[in-house]
Amino acid sequence: MDERFTGSFTQQEPIPEAGIAAAVDVMRHGRLHRYNVAEGETAEAARLEQEFAAFTGADYCLAVTSGGYAMACALRAVGVTPGEAVLSNAFTLAPVPGAIANVGAVPVFVEVTESLTLDLDDLTEKIAASGARVLLLSHMRGHICDMGRLMEICDRAGVTVVEDCAHTMGAEWDGVPSGRHGRVACYSTQTYKHLNSGEGGFLITDNPEVMARAVVLSGSYMLYERHLAAPGAAAYAELRWETPNMSGRMDNLRAAILRAQLPALAQQCDRWTERYRAVEAGLRGTAGLQVIERPARERFVGSSIQFLLPDWSPEDIGAVLARCAARGVELKWFGAAEPVAFTSRYDSWRYAAPAPLPQTDRVLAGLMDMRIPLTFSVEDCALIARIIAQEVGRQYQSADARVSAGT
Ligand SMILES: *Cc1c(COP(=O)(O)O)cnc(C)c1O
Repeated sequence: MDERFTGSFTQQEPIPEAGIAAAVDVMRHGRLHRYNVAEGETAEAARLEQEFAAFTGADYCLAVTSGGYAMACALRAVGVTPGEAVLSNAFTLAPVPGAIANVGAVPVFVEVTESLTLDLDDLTEKIAASGARVLLLSHMRGHICDMGRLMEICDRAGVTVVEDCAHTMGAEWDGVPSGRHGRVACYSTQTYKHLNSGEGGFLITDNPEVMARAVVLSGSYMLYERHLAAPGAAAYAELRWETPNMSGRMDNLRAAILRAQLPALAQQCDRWTERYRAVEAGLRGTAGLQVIERPARERFVGSSIQFLLPDWSPEDIGAVLARCAARGVELKWFGAAEPVAFTSRYDSWRYAAPAPLPQTDRVLAGLMDMRIPLTFSVEDCALIARIIAQEVGRQYQSADARVSAGT
Protein backbone atom coordinates (compact mmCIF):
# COMPACT_ATOMS: atom_id res chain seq x y z
CA MET A 1 0.00 0.00 0.00
CA ASP A 2 1.47 3.38 -1.04
CA GLU A 3 1.76 6.00 1.71
CA ARG A 4 -0.48 9.07 1.47
CA PHE A 5 -0.15 12.56 2.90
CA THR A 6 -3.29 14.20 4.25
CA GLY A 7 -2.13 17.68 5.36
CA SER A 8 -3.07 20.98 3.66
CA PHE A 9 -0.43 22.83 1.63
CA THR A 10 -2.28 26.11 2.09
CA GLN A 11 -2.85 25.95 5.86
CA GLN A 12 -0.65 28.34 7.85
CA GLU A 13 -0.42 28.48 11.61
CA PRO A 14 -2.99 30.53 13.56
CA ILE A 15 -2.23 34.08 14.66
CA PRO A 16 -0.52 33.89 18.10
CA GLU A 17 -2.84 34.55 21.07
CA ALA A 18 -0.97 37.79 21.85
CA GLY A 19 -1.78 39.00 18.33
CA ILE A 20 -5.43 38.08 18.69
CA ALA A 21 -5.59 39.95 22.01
CA ALA A 22 -3.85 43.01 20.52
CA ALA A 23 -6.23 42.98 17.55
CA VAL A 24 -9.23 42.77 19.86
CA ASP A 25 -7.88 45.76 21.82
CA VAL A 26 -7.69 47.81 18.62
CA MET A 27 -11.24 46.80 17.69
CA ARG A 28 -12.47 47.68 21.20
CA HIS A 29 -11.06 51.21 21.07
CA GLY A 30 -12.02 51.58 17.41
CA ARG A 31 -9.02 53.62 16.28
CA LEU A 32 -8.10 51.42 13.31
CA HIS A 33 -6.83 54.22 11.08
CA ARG A 34 -3.13 54.75 11.70
CA TYR A 35 -3.47 58.51 12.17
CA ASN A 36 -6.40 58.18 14.56
CA VAL A 37 -4.63 58.27 17.92
CA ALA A 38 -5.72 59.29 21.40
CA GLU A 39 -3.76 61.91 23.35
CA GLY A 40 -0.27 60.55 24.02
CA GLU A 41 -0.91 57.32 22.11
CA THR A 42 1.50 55.86 19.54
CA ALA A 43 -0.30 53.99 16.75
CA GLU A 44 0.32 50.27 16.31
CA ALA A 45 1.36 50.98 12.70
CA ALA A 46 4.04 53.47 13.79
CA ARG A 47 5.38 51.04 16.41
CA LEU A 48 5.43 48.21 13.90
CA GLU A 49 7.54 50.33 11.55
CA GLN A 50 10.07 51.02 14.30
CA GLU A 51 10.23 47.35 15.18
CA PHE A 52 10.62 46.13 11.60
CA ALA A 53 13.29 48.76 10.92
CA ALA A 54 15.18 47.44 13.96
CA PHE A 55 14.72 43.84 12.79
CA THR A 56 16.40 44.60 9.46
CA GLY A 57 18.82 47.24 10.69
CA ALA A 58 17.39 49.85 8.29
CA ASP A 59 17.08 53.51 9.29
CA TYR A 60 13.54 53.79 7.94
CA CYS A 61 10.49 51.60 7.44
CA LEU A 62 7.03 52.19 6.00
CA ALA A 63 4.16 49.72 6.43
CA VAL A 64 1.69 49.55 3.54
CA THR A 65 -1.25 47.56 2.18
CA SER A 66 0.66 44.88 0.24
CA GLY A 67 4.03 43.78 -1.08
CA GLY A 68 2.92 44.78 -4.57
CA TYR A 69 2.03 48.26 -3.32
CA ALA A 70 5.44 48.52 -1.59
CA MET A 71 7.22 47.72 -4.86
CA ALA A 72 5.26 50.21 -6.97
CA CYS A 73 5.70 52.84 -4.25
CA ALA A 74 9.46 52.14 -4.10
CA LEU A 75 9.79 52.44 -7.89
CA ARG A 76 8.00 55.81 -7.82
CA ALA A 77 10.04 56.96 -4.84
CA VAL A 78 13.34 56.25 -6.62
CA GLY A 79 12.07 58.27 -9.58
CA VAL A 80 10.86 55.74 -12.16
CA THR A 81 8.75 57.54 -14.78
CA PRO A 82 6.18 56.23 -17.30
CA GLY A 83 7.61 54.58 -20.39
CA GLU A 84 10.99 53.91 -18.80
CA ALA A 85 12.56 50.42 -18.90
CA VAL A 86 12.88 48.60 -15.55
CA LEU A 87 14.90 45.39 -15.33
CA SER A 88 13.55 42.42 -13.41
CA ASN A 89 13.76 38.65 -13.08
CA ALA A 90 12.09 36.51 -15.73
CA PHE A 91 11.44 33.97 -12.95
CA THR A 92 9.27 35.71 -10.37
CA LEU A 93 5.66 36.17 -9.29
CA ALA A 94 3.13 38.18 -11.30
CA PRO A 95 2.95 41.17 -8.85
CA VAL A 96 6.61 41.99 -9.64
CA PRO A 97 6.18 42.90 -13.32
CA GLY A 98 2.77 44.15 -12.19
CA ALA A 99 4.42 46.75 -9.93
CA ILE A 100 6.52 47.94 -12.89
CA ALA A 101 3.37 48.20 -15.03
CA ASN A 102 1.65 50.03 -12.14
CA VAL A 103 4.03 52.98 -12.54
CA GLY A 104 3.64 52.90 -16.33
CA ALA A 105 7.16 51.56 -16.84
CA VAL A 106 8.16 48.66 -19.10
CA PRO A 107 9.54 45.41 -17.64
CA VAL A 108 12.71 44.07 -19.26
CA PHE A 109 13.23 40.49 -18.13
CA VAL A 110 16.62 39.02 -17.27
CA GLU A 111 17.39 35.29 -17.62
CA VAL A 112 17.39 32.93 -14.65
CA THR A 113 20.16 30.39 -13.94
CA GLU A 114 19.77 26.75 -12.89
CA SER A 115 20.33 27.98 -9.32
CA LEU A 116 17.09 29.99 -9.79
CA THR A 117 18.87 33.34 -9.38
CA LEU A 118 19.29 36.26 -11.74
CA ASP A 119 21.85 35.56 -14.49
CA LEU A 120 24.42 38.29 -13.84
CA ASP A 121 26.04 38.02 -17.29
CA ASP A 122 22.67 38.50 -18.93
CA LEU A 123 21.99 41.37 -16.50
CA THR A 124 25.15 43.13 -17.70
CA GLU A 125 24.03 42.72 -21.32
CA LYS A 126 20.46 43.82 -20.63
CA ILE A 127 21.62 46.94 -18.75
CA ALA A 128 23.67 47.94 -21.79
CA ALA A 129 20.96 47.07 -24.31
CA SER A 130 18.00 48.66 -22.46
CA GLY A 131 19.66 51.68 -20.88
CA ALA A 132 17.54 50.93 -17.77
CA ARG A 133 18.41 52.89 -14.62
CA VAL A 134 16.53 50.65 -12.17
CA LEU A 135 16.52 46.92 -11.35
CA LEU A 136 13.60 45.42 -9.42
CA LEU A 137 15.47 42.37 -8.11
CA SER A 138 13.22 39.54 -6.98
CA HIS A 139 14.69 36.99 -4.56
CA MET A 140 12.12 34.59 -5.95
CA ARG A 141 11.38 31.59 -3.74
CA GLY A 142 14.16 32.74 -1.43
CA HIS A 143 17.07 32.20 -3.83
CA ILE A 144 19.63 35.00 -3.47
CA CYS A 145 22.17 35.74 -6.21
CA ASP A 146 25.79 36.77 -5.50
CA MET A 147 24.88 40.14 -3.99
CA GLY A 148 28.47 41.40 -3.97
CA ARG A 149 28.82 40.90 -7.69
CA LEU A 150 25.31 42.17 -8.41
CA MET A 151 25.89 45.42 -6.53
CA GLU A 152 29.24 45.88 -8.26
CA ILE A 153 27.58 45.52 -11.70
CA CYS A 154 24.73 47.85 -10.79
CA ASP A 155 26.89 50.46 -9.03
CA ARG A 156 29.28 50.58 -11.97
CA ALA A 157 26.40 51.08 -14.41
CA GLY A 158 24.57 53.58 -12.17
CA VAL A 159 21.59 51.21 -11.80
CA THR A 160 19.46 51.65 -8.65
CA VAL A 161 18.49 48.35 -7.02
CA VAL A 162 15.06 47.82 -5.46
CA GLU A 163 14.81 44.41 -3.76
CA ASP A 164 11.71 42.23 -3.65
CA CYS A 165 12.18 40.30 -0.40
CA ALA A 166 8.75 38.66 -0.31
CA HIS A 167 10.48 35.27 0.17
CA THR A 168 13.62 36.44 1.99
CA MET A 169 12.22 38.14 5.07
CA GLY A 170 14.58 36.86 7.77
CA ALA A 171 17.17 35.60 5.26
CA GLU A 172 20.79 36.78 4.88
CA TRP A 173 23.56 36.95 2.28
CA ASP A 174 27.10 36.95 3.67
CA GLY A 175 25.68 37.77 7.09
CA VAL A 176 23.81 40.86 5.83
CA PRO A 177 19.99 40.76 6.12
CA SER A 178 18.29 40.34 2.75
CA GLY A 179 17.01 43.75 1.71
CA ARG A 180 20.05 45.67 2.98
CA HIS A 181 22.07 45.67 -0.25
CA GLY A 182 19.92 47.79 -2.59
CA ARG A 183 18.53 51.32 -2.21
CA VAL A 184 15.10 50.08 -1.09
CA ALA A 185 13.67 46.69 -0.13
CA CYS A 186 10.06 45.53 -0.17
CA TYR A 187 8.39 42.78 1.85
CA SER A 188 4.96 41.18 1.89
CA THR A 189 2.91 40.10 4.91
CA GLN A 190 0.31 38.31 2.85
CA THR A 191 -0.84 35.01 4.38
CA TYR A 192 1.61 32.76 2.49
CA LYS A 193 4.71 34.79 3.43
CA HIS A 194 6.81 34.84 6.63
CA LEU A 195 4.52 37.15 8.61
CA ASN A 196 0.75 36.90 8.19
CA SER A 197 -1.70 39.80 8.26
CA GLY A 198 -3.79 38.57 5.34
CA GLU A 199 -2.53 41.43 3.21
CA GLY A 200 0.24 43.91 3.96
CA GLY A 201 3.77 44.95 3.15
CA PHE A 202 6.86 46.93 4.16
CA LEU A 203 9.35 49.14 2.44
CA ILE A 204 12.74 49.81 4.07
CA THR A 205 15.60 52.14 3.14
CA ASP A 206 18.39 54.26 4.64
CA ASN A 207 17.72 57.06 2.16
CA PRO A 208 15.78 59.94 3.78
CA GLU A 209 14.53 61.43 0.52
CA VAL A 210 13.26 58.09 -0.78
CA MET A 211 11.51 57.38 2.52
CA ALA A 212 9.94 60.83 2.74
CA ARG A 213 8.57 60.45 -0.76
CA ALA A 214 7.29 56.93 0.00
CA VAL A 215 5.54 58.15 3.18
CA VAL A 216 3.67 60.87 1.28
CA LEU A 217 2.91 58.49 -1.63
CA SER A 218 1.47 55.97 0.84
CA GLY A 219 -1.15 58.52 1.89
CA SER A 220 0.25 60.35 4.91
CA TYR A 221 -1.50 63.64 4.07
CA MET A 222 0.44 66.21 6.11
CA LEU A 223 0.63 63.83 9.09
CA TYR A 224 4.05 62.43 8.14
CA GLU A 225 5.48 63.44 11.51
CA ARG A 226 3.49 60.60 13.08
CA HIS A 227 5.88 58.19 11.38
CA LEU A 228 8.61 57.24 13.82
CA ALA A 229 10.81 55.19 11.47
CA ALA A 230 11.03 58.01 8.91
CA PRO A 231 13.06 61.21 8.52
CA GLY A 232 12.16 64.44 10.34
CA ALA A 233 9.88 67.18 9.03
CA ALA A 234 12.65 68.97 7.12
CA ALA A 235 12.84 66.09 4.62
CA TYR A 236 9.26 66.86 3.53
CA ALA A 237 9.59 70.63 3.13
CA GLU A 238 9.67 70.57 -0.68
CA LEU A 239 8.48 67.15 -1.69
CA ARG A 240 5.14 67.37 0.14
CA TRP A 241 4.08 69.82 -2.61
CA GLU A 242 5.21 67.60 -5.45
CA THR A 243 4.32 64.10 -4.30
CA PRO A 244 0.84 62.67 -4.95
CA ASN A 245 -1.13 60.85 -2.25
CA MET A 246 -1.63 57.29 -3.57
CA SER A 247 -3.45 55.78 -0.60
CA GLY A 248 -1.91 52.51 0.51
CA ARG A 249 -1.61 52.80 4.30
CA MET A 250 -1.29 49.95 6.78
CA ASP A 251 -4.02 50.01 9.45
CA ASN A 252 -3.62 49.48 13.20
CA LEU A 253 -5.51 46.19 13.20
CA ARG A 254 -3.06 44.49 10.86
CA ALA A 255 -0.14 46.21 12.54
CA ALA A 256 -1.22 44.77 15.91
CA ILE A 257 -1.38 41.26 14.43
CA LEU A 258 2.08 41.68 12.88
CA ARG A 259 3.75 43.17 15.95
CA ALA A 260 2.88 40.05 17.92
CA GLN A 261 4.50 37.83 15.27
CA LEU A 262 7.72 39.77 14.86
CA PRO A 263 9.53 38.59 18.04
CA ALA A 264 9.25 34.93 16.89
CA LEU A 265 10.17 35.55 13.24
CA ALA A 266 13.80 34.38 13.46
CA GLN A 267 12.74 31.20 15.22
CA GLN A 268 9.96 30.59 12.66
CA CYS A 269 12.54 30.95 9.88
CA ASP A 270 14.64 28.22 11.51
CA ARG A 271 11.57 25.97 11.70
CA TRP A 272 10.94 26.48 7.96
CA THR A 273 14.50 25.63 7.09
CA GLU A 274 14.49 22.51 9.28
CA ARG A 275 11.45 21.29 7.29
CA TYR A 276 13.09 22.27 3.99
CA ARG A 277 16.19 20.26 4.87
CA ALA A 278 14.01 17.21 5.64
CA VAL A 279 12.38 17.40 2.20
CA GLU A 280 15.72 18.06 0.51
CA ALA A 281 17.38 15.09 2.24
CA GLY A 282 14.56 12.81 1.10
CA LEU A 283 14.79 13.99 -2.52
CA ARG A 284 18.56 13.91 -2.84
CA GLY A 285 19.85 11.00 -4.88
CA THR A 286 16.57 10.39 -6.75
CA ALA A 287 17.41 9.42 -10.35
CA GLY A 288 16.26 12.05 -12.85
CA LEU A 289 15.76 14.70 -10.13
CA GLN A 290 18.11 17.63 -9.55
CA VAL A 291 18.20 19.26 -6.11
CA ILE A 292 18.95 23.02 -6.11
CA GLU A 293 22.18 23.40 -4.12
CA ARG A 294 22.14 26.35 -1.70
CA PRO A 295 25.29 28.46 -1.49
CA ALA A 296 27.01 28.56 1.91
CA ARG A 297 26.93 32.38 1.84
CA GLU A 298 23.14 32.34 1.76
CA ARG A 299 21.15 31.93 4.96
CA PHE A 300 17.81 31.07 3.39
CA VAL A 301 14.31 30.62 4.77
CA GLY A 302 12.90 27.32 3.54
CA SER A 303 9.22 28.30 3.31
CA SER A 304 9.08 26.56 -0.08
CA ILE A 305 11.28 24.13 -1.99
CA GLN A 306 12.12 23.80 -5.67
CA PHE A 307 13.72 21.02 -7.67
CA LEU A 308 14.38 20.32 -11.35
CA LEU A 309 13.31 17.47 -13.59
CA PRO A 310 15.76 18.47 -16.33
CA ASP A 311 14.92 17.52 -19.91
CA TRP A 312 11.77 15.66 -18.89
CA SER A 313 8.89 15.63 -21.38
CA PRO A 314 5.78 17.62 -20.39
CA GLU A 315 3.83 14.34 -20.41
CA ASP A 316 6.17 12.70 -17.91
CA ILE A 317 6.08 15.77 -15.65
CA GLY A 318 2.29 15.85 -15.91
CA ALA A 319 2.19 12.20 -14.84
CA VAL A 320 4.37 12.91 -11.77
CA LEU A 321 2.16 15.86 -10.81
CA ALA A 322 -0.99 13.74 -11.10
CA ARG A 323 0.43 10.80 -9.16
CA CYS A 324 1.81 12.97 -6.37
CA ALA A 325 -1.54 14.81 -6.18
CA ALA A 326 -3.34 11.47 -5.92
CA ARG A 327 -1.19 10.76 -2.85
CA GLY A 328 -1.91 14.15 -1.29
CA VAL A 329 1.25 16.00 -2.39
CA GLU A 330 0.63 19.31 -4.18
CA LEU A 331 3.43 20.24 -6.55
CA LYS A 332 3.44 23.32 -8.77
CA TRP A 333 5.08 23.31 -12.17
CA PHE A 334 6.54 26.43 -13.79
CA GLY A 335 6.67 24.75 -17.21
CA ALA A 336 2.91 24.47 -17.81
CA ALA A 337 1.68 25.99 -21.07
CA GLU A 338 -1.02 28.02 -19.28
CA PRO A 339 -0.80 30.06 -16.05
CA VAL A 340 -2.46 28.16 -13.15
CA ALA A 341 -3.52 29.64 -9.78
CA PHE A 342 -0.51 31.60 -8.35
CA THR A 343 1.92 30.11 -10.89
CA SER A 344 2.62 32.00 -14.10
CA ARG A 345 5.76 32.77 -16.05
CA TYR A 346 7.20 35.66 -17.99
CA ASP A 347 5.75 34.70 -21.36
CA SER A 348 2.23 34.78 -19.92
CA TRP A 349 2.67 38.48 -18.97
CA ARG A 350 1.82 39.54 -22.51
CA TYR A 351 1.13 43.19 -21.62
CA ALA A 352 4.91 43.47 -21.18
CA ALA A 353 5.56 42.03 -24.67
CA PRO A 354 8.43 39.90 -23.28
CA ALA A 355 11.29 38.93 -25.59
CA PRO A 356 11.99 35.17 -25.70
CA LEU A 357 14.48 33.93 -23.07
CA PRO A 358 15.76 30.49 -24.13
CA GLN A 359 17.74 29.76 -20.96
CA THR A 360 14.80 30.65 -18.70
CA ASP A 361 12.48 28.53 -20.87
CA ARG A 362 14.79 25.56 -20.40
CA VAL A 363 14.99 25.99 -16.60
CA LEU A 364 11.27 26.62 -16.10
CA ALA A 365 10.32 23.64 -18.31
CA GLY A 366 11.61 21.30 -15.60
CA LEU A 367 11.01 23.43 -12.50
CA MET A 368 8.87 22.02 -9.70
CA ASP A 369 7.82 24.02 -6.67
CA MET A 370 6.24 23.14 -3.34
CA ARG A 371 5.09 25.16 -0.35
CA ILE A 372 6.19 24.12 3.15
CA PRO A 373 3.73 25.55 5.67
CA LEU A 374 4.73 25.42 9.34
CA THR A 375 1.65 23.31 10.07
CA PHE A 376 3.71 20.41 8.61
CA SER A 377 5.88 18.48 11.05
CA VAL A 378 9.42 17.44 10.14
CA GLU A 379 8.06 13.86 9.85
CA ASP A 380 5.38 15.11 7.42
CA CYS A 381 8.16 16.60 5.32
CA ALA A 382 10.07 13.31 5.26
CA LEU A 383 6.87 11.51 4.18
CA ILE A 384 6.21 14.07 1.42
CA ALA A 385 9.76 13.61 0.13
CA ARG A 386 9.35 9.80 0.10
CA ILE A 387 6.20 10.16 -1.99
CA ILE A 388 7.82 12.54 -4.48
CA ALA A 389 10.99 10.46 -4.76
CA GLN A 390 8.97 7.31 -5.36
CA GLU A 391 6.74 8.83 -8.03
CA VAL A 392 9.62 10.58 -9.78
CA GLY A 393 11.55 7.28 -9.69
CA ARG A 394 8.66 5.29 -11.13
CA GLN A 395 8.02 7.77 -13.92
CA TYR A 396 11.72 8.05 -14.71
CA GLN A 397 11.98 4.29 -15.04
CA SER A 398 8.93 3.98 -17.25
CA ALA A 399 10.17 6.83 -19.45
CA ASP A 400 13.52 5.06 -19.64
CA ALA A 401 11.77 1.83 -20.55
CA ARG A 402 9.86 3.63 -23.33
CA VAL A 403 13.08 5.07 -24.71
CA SER A 404 14.90 1.72 -24.72
CA ALA A 405 11.86 0.03 -26.29
CA GLY A 406 12.03 2.72 -28.99
CA THR A 407 8.40 3.78 -28.51
C1 LIG B 1 3.73 37.59 -2.78
C2 LIG B 1 4.80 38.15 -3.58
C3 LIG B 1 4.85 39.50 -3.87
C4 LIG B 1 3.77 40.49 -3.61
O1 LIG B 1 3.18 40.44 -2.41
P1 LIG B 1 1.64 40.87 -2.17
O2 LIG B 1 1.68 41.28 -0.76
O3 LIG B 1 0.82 39.66 -2.44
O4 LIG B 1 1.34 42.00 -3.10
C5 LIG B 1 5.96 39.97 -4.54
N1 LIG B 1 6.94 39.16 -4.93
C6 LIG B 1 6.92 37.85 -4.72
C7 LIG B 1 8.05 37.02 -5.19
C8 LIG B 1 5.84 37.30 -4.04
O5 LIG B 1 5.79 35.98 -3.84
